[in-house]
Amino acid sequence: MSTLYKSTRSDSKTFTASEAILKGLADDGGLFVPTSIPALDVSIEELSKMDYKEVAYNVMKNFLSDFTEEELKDCINKAYDSKFDTEEIAPLVEVEGAYYLELFHGSTIAFKDMALSILPHLLTTSAKKNNINNEIVILTATSGDTGKAAMAGFADVPGTRIIVFYPAGGVSSIQEKQMVTQKGDNTYVVSINGNFDEAQSGVKAIFGDKELAKEMADKGFQFSSANSINIGRLVPQIAYYVYAYAKLFAEGKVAKDEKINVVVPTGNFGNILAAFYAKNMGLPIDKLICASNDNKVLYDFFETGVYDKNREFMLTISPSMDILISSNLERLIYRIAGNSYEKNAALMEDLKTKGKYEITPEMKAELKDFYGNYASEAELSKTIKDTYESCGYIMDTHTAVAATVYDKYKKATGDNKTTVIASTASPFKFTRSVMNAIDPKYDEKGDFELVDELSRIGNVAVPNAIEEIRNADVRHNNNCDVDGMKDIVKKFLGI
Ligand SMILES: *Cc1c(COP(=O)(O)O)cnc(C)c1O
Repeated sequence: MSTLYKSTRSDSKTFTASEAILKGLADDGGLFVPTSIPALDVSIEELSKMDYKEVAYNVMKNFLSDFTEEELKDCINKAYDSKFDTEEIAPLVEVEGAYYLELFHGSTIAFKDMALSILPHLLTTSAKKNNINNEIVILTATSGDTGKAAMAGFADVPGTRIIVFYPAGGVSSIQEKQMVTQKGDNTYVVSINGNFDEAQSGVKAIFGDKELAKEMADKGFQFSSANSINIGRLVPQIAYYVYAYAKLFAEGKVAKDEKINVVVPTGNFGNILAAFYAKNMGLPIDKLICASNDNKVLYDFFETGVYDKNREFMLTISPSMDILISSNLERLIYRIAGNSYEKNAALMEDLKTKGKYEITPEMKAELKDFYGNYASEAELSKTIKDTYESCGYIMDTHTAVAATVYDKYKKATGDNKTTVIASTASPFKFTRSVMNAIDPKYDEKGDFELVDELSRIGNVAVPNAIEEIRNADVRHNNNCDVDGMKDIVKKFLGI
């Protein structure tokens, strides 16, 4: 069976998976979506006996159907190796009756590693398959975690360069230190004087610049994207939901076909969309619980059917979710519009020109799989503190948004189904906010003193990703305005 991809915004031709991975974004500005979502063709019994890599292969093979078995297995083996600090890759930890799927055991200790450790391999394999000889330039906007994970994945990968833009003052100090100390001669990092949405829009504009694309091609370069709009990121993320379910089944925590709920702390809507695709593959998932922080544009959307980004952009202690334009939502909109590119394109045009759009009641009815809510700064901090005090488990600020929303969901519905909470970052990545939540007295201490204190009170070793930046040299010191992004890209590439 082969899966093909097409754009959400026009009646485009179809693309193979490798073509869609190379392009990142469709030429018309739309996102690539599979023309149909392949079914999971391996039983849960079989999956429950497999390790992470085998599950990943069985989930990904039908999405990336133009990859040979050898090519895909090679990518998987190179990705999910000792860069992860546990052989389980994504451990499932039971805390107060819910299952935390810890997606932060990779090299940059956030869930972005789950996809970005494999994307460079998918991309270079795709280039080979399509006889591309250009150097591939990855351009990425980051709210803090993608940038580092992408650089870690692409550093010194032959035939690639990577340029990362992050909002100055919009990331945690540990996140910033992780990025500006990045090694690799093919890595470039720039802070921009703007927020994440502006960084993301700037990158999209550079992608859409036909003149620049031509100049690039003349010099032997072409752009691709490591942002979560790339299906090469979305597809690997489906795997861990299947893995989590198989694990629950193996441990007797769910019966055959028993439905579970999944809670996802959401920003760009990539991670939760992967869960939605897993459900559509046939995984027994009931509700997809979409957890937002104070930038609660998605909560309002699920409540009212109006997506409205015209509001104040808040800087929160869960910065990787500080987003008002959730790019991947477009894939869901396309689908609930009955896979209509006309309807979707019209709504996206509204978003561009008016900053908002409204879906029809019929479309809204198609959202019944989702429940949305949000957590304020005080609520999520309280969740961190209460959970630590009652059972010693220390979660990060993003995961705490999910845990808080899960509590609200249970109170509102009484639904006590077995639940998986996507735990998207290590608390060590957001040490200051986490420690302040536990006790404000910690605010006087330095970043690395707090790291050591967190290790002590949580009884967990300091992750390698943190040890490595403790004394690392700053290697990047670039800053630009939003309208200077294109020039700095040209400067880095010497064109
Ligand atoms: C990126 C990120 C999120 C949001 O994920 P989306 O796929 O953008 O919705 C949540 N938590 C952390 C720690 C992240 O890095």
